Amino acid sequence: MDLIALAVPFFLLAIIIELIVDRARHKGLFRANDAINSLSAGILSTTTGYFTKFLKFIIWGYVLQNFALIDMPLSWFDTSPQGIALWVTAAIAWDFCYYWFHRFSHEISILWAAHAVHHQSEDYNLSTALRQTSTGFLFGWVFYLPLFLIGFPLEVLITVNAINLIYQFWVHTQTIRRLGVLDYILITPSNHRVHHAQNERYIDKNYGGILILWDRMFGTFEDEHDDDPVVFGVRKPLASWNPFWANLQVYDYLLFDARKTARWRDKIGVWFRRTGWRPPDVAAQYPKPPFDLGHVTKFDAAPGPGMRYYVLAQFVVVLLLTLAIGRMIGTTGAVGVLIPCLMLWAQLWTIGLLNEGREHAVRVELARLLLVVPVGAAAQQETFWPVVTAYIGLSLASFVALKVNNKQRVNKLI
Ligand SMILES: [Zn+2]
Ligand SMILES: [Zn+2]
Repeated sequence: MDLIALAVPFFLLAIIIELIVDRARHKGLFRANDAINSLSAGILSTTTGYFTKFLKFIIWGYVLQNFALIDMPLSWFDTSPQGIALWVTAAIAWDFCYYWFHRFSHEISILWAAHAVHHQSEDYNLSTALRQTSTGFLFGWVFYLPLFLIGFPLEVLITVNAINLIYQFWVHTQTIRRLGVLDYILITPSNHRVHHAQNERYIDKNYGGILILWDRMFGTFEDEHDDDPVVFGVRKPLASWNPFWANLQVYDYLLFDARKTARWRDKIGVWFRRTGWRPPDVAAQYPKPPFDLGHVTKFDAAPGPGMRYYVLAQFVVVLLLTLAIGRMIGTTGAVGVLIPCLMLWAQLWTIGLLNEGREHAVRVELARLLLVVPVGAAAQQETFWPVVTAYIGLSLASFVALKVNNKQRVNKLI
């Protein structure tokens, strides 16, 4: 049973409710372009995961079979008091490993390159929770190896992992302020807002997944202060709605420094030293402007008025395609969903371009509708052709109409 997949409809429902509440209160916590970008990153993470997550399962399974210290049969984890105590122990142990994984993900450059995606949003709402990395599979598994060495069954650890992730969803909100005693024990919206901040006093704080106790124990706790309101986002802003670039941006910075530095030791150090460290020769030659919290402005590129609705409609198609792929994979396996995934990724890319209002986005979107969709549908033999044809026709018609409409508006303005 995939608990995370089961939770997705509830996630989407909660996002819609938060959006309605926000619109009613006129708080402006949601921007469509930012929310679409966050959800796009989440969809990319889930669908690329179909092709990458086998890596961790192979390693974890191998360690469990060959090196486990205690042989813990699954039957121990039943509903008896001892069984429940074991479940709780596994969940707390997972949360402890998560704390260290998350902390290193901020403190070591190459791990930050993967994790930064989650922090790029300059808004903070439930859609931010789903903004996840697509490259976490490279190193994330390492931090949980101790649990497999101890001998917890794989099924149990997969379940407590899912619980840990699902728990973290609800804390990504500004609609809940403080929760009294819970703020002392658990990761709550207030505690996690601090974690997403760029403010000096909040940076690199509150790493916990479910329990804030780890932060209190290991000196990384910071309380939210009303006189220092959180400024969300990262200090090197993404400034793009492209979910692929979101995943590559920090790797690109690191690669730049590694290529430019003269010393071999620094070419390696760039990746494995503390986040923010730069080789002295590169830092001197290509200095970065100092960070100034007072001058942080939100990236807010957006398409024309009509085109927003086109983007929104296309994003609904993305959601439907993602759900269809999620259903298909149960019977076909990853190889069977490769073509639909490629079509989905092409669409995520063009939605990003359209959202940025780019001039060439028009040509790229037309190429997707006229080339990628028909070729992909033809390659996927069981495709329902009348639906595909209707989709292409409707999209083309609305797209061309909007383009003409937008041009007329521009002419009127001139
Ligand atoms: Zn983080
Ligand atoms: Zn978060």
